[in-house]
Amino acid sequence: MSETPSSAPIVIAGAGIGGLSAALALRKAGHEIVVLERATNLKEVGAGLQLSPNACAVLAQLGLLDALAPKVYAPPNLEIWSGQTGDKISRVELGGFLKTRHGNPFWVVHRADLQNVLLEAASSDDGIRLIVDTTVEDITASPFGGLTCSFHTGGNANSQTCKALIGADGVWSKTRKLVPEHQNARFSGQVAYRATVPIENVPERWHKNSGLWLHKRSHLVHYPIRDGQLLNIVALVEEPWQDETWSAPARQEDLIHNFRHWPSDVRNLLNAPDSWLKWALCSVDASGPWTHGHVALLGDSAHAMLPYMAQGAAMAIEDAAVLAHHLPPNTENIPAALRAYEESRKARVRTVQAQAFRNARTFHMDGILAAARNTVLRLSGAQKLAARFDNIYGWTPPQ
Ligand SMILES: Cc1cc2nc3c(=O)[nH]c(=O)nc-3n(C[C@H](O)[C@H](O)[C@H](O)COP(=O)(O)OP(=O)(O)OC[C@H]3O[C@@H](n4cnc5c(N)ncnc54)[C@H](O)[C@@H]3O)c2cc1C
Repeated sequence: MSETPSSAPIVIAGAGIGGLSAALALRKAGHEIVVLERATNLKEVGAGLQLSPNACAVLAQLGLLDALAPKVYAPPNLEIWSGQTGDKISRVELGGFLKTRHGNPFWVVHRADLQNVLLEAASSDDGIRLIVDTTVEDITASPFGGLTCSFHTGGNANSQTCKALIGADGVWSKTRKLVPEHQNARFSGQVAYRATVPIENVPERWHKNSGLWLHKRSHLVHYPIRDGQLLNIVALVEEPWQDETWSAPARQEDLIHNFRHWPSDVRNLLNAPDSWLKWALCSVDASGPWTHGHVALLGDSAHAMLPYMAQGAAMAIEDAAVLAHHLPPNTENIPAALRAYEESRKARVRTVQAQAFRNARTFHMDGILAAARNTVLRLSGAQKLAARFDNIYGWTPPQ
């Protein structure tokens, strides 16, 4: 293969949270960037995201915390409740405790607000070009030297010389096909119903803290977002998936039926939003290969995980910082640099993915197992429970 011009850009497939973070981190490292996004316009659907201190450490490195701060909410606590009895089981201290412990905040944010901040930063940088309505096809050796990434924009074939292709195109990644022996996405048998509601439309008990409600084969998460103006609600249930697409509008009556044995104020909360969307929860085994030659996967395309640790986007954001660290602009052996990125990420991502799987079982326990779980949670202090996530939240990006 002819030598890739060092001035050639890095192409990133996907302008989601992972792709945009990678664009900013790689640009900061000195690369020219082209981001190819399948959607015609970038609008994140209405739902919330927890941004733990490890994710915020990367956003701080990218200089984005000030832009984000007016749009986020910092919940003081996570309260854990029984969906069976309506009793409070325990409390995990977040807010000031985690900020002091890890040096970066624990925030909750509307996904659209985070994506807008990333997008504004990318759009204001001349070294990052975003092309929408575009899907990546292949990467091949170019007869003119270097590599060529071929893609379709609005149905028209096009190409771009590049020095690497980063597949940040989500759980149903097409770029993954360019990595032989990759792992495929698998449906977990669990479905997430998501909605937001203006905070003034729900009683005050839901306004301040994050909440986690546990019941057999289902659980519920809620927290205020957008500077406390909206309440984000996620209801997770074990049920089959029958729709043709992997996310779809949900029928509120199906959701309410699933929660018919829950306390009445929770059922009232589920009635508050005007509409709900549902997602089939899928994962991609992180142990599969993420790189091949000049192609590397990042975020959900490499390692989509169940949202039970609220770490999928955080891992994509971490990936971006580590990738940029291993790929300075003068890198001569790009495949080796991409392999180094994969090697330095894999163990951590597998640990977090396994923790998310364990939580899936723990959250949905029934009977004596649920009683034992609740006792452990009750006996652990609010700070001790928060410190159990030190291995995740205490991570900081390479400098
Ligand atoms: C219910 C739920 C709750 C969650 N809560 C949290 C949380 O609290 N905290 C957290 O950290 N994570 C959370 N996650 C996980 C998080 O949403 C994902 O891990 C994260 O969005 C992955 O980002 P990504 O950029 O890798 O992929 P995506 O966000 O899926 O972005 C992929 C982008 O690629 C584009 N694309 C797709 N195919 C192509 C193609 N062929 N060519 C070009 N572009 C393409 C898509 O249009 C999209 O813009 C949650 C997930 C769910 C389902």
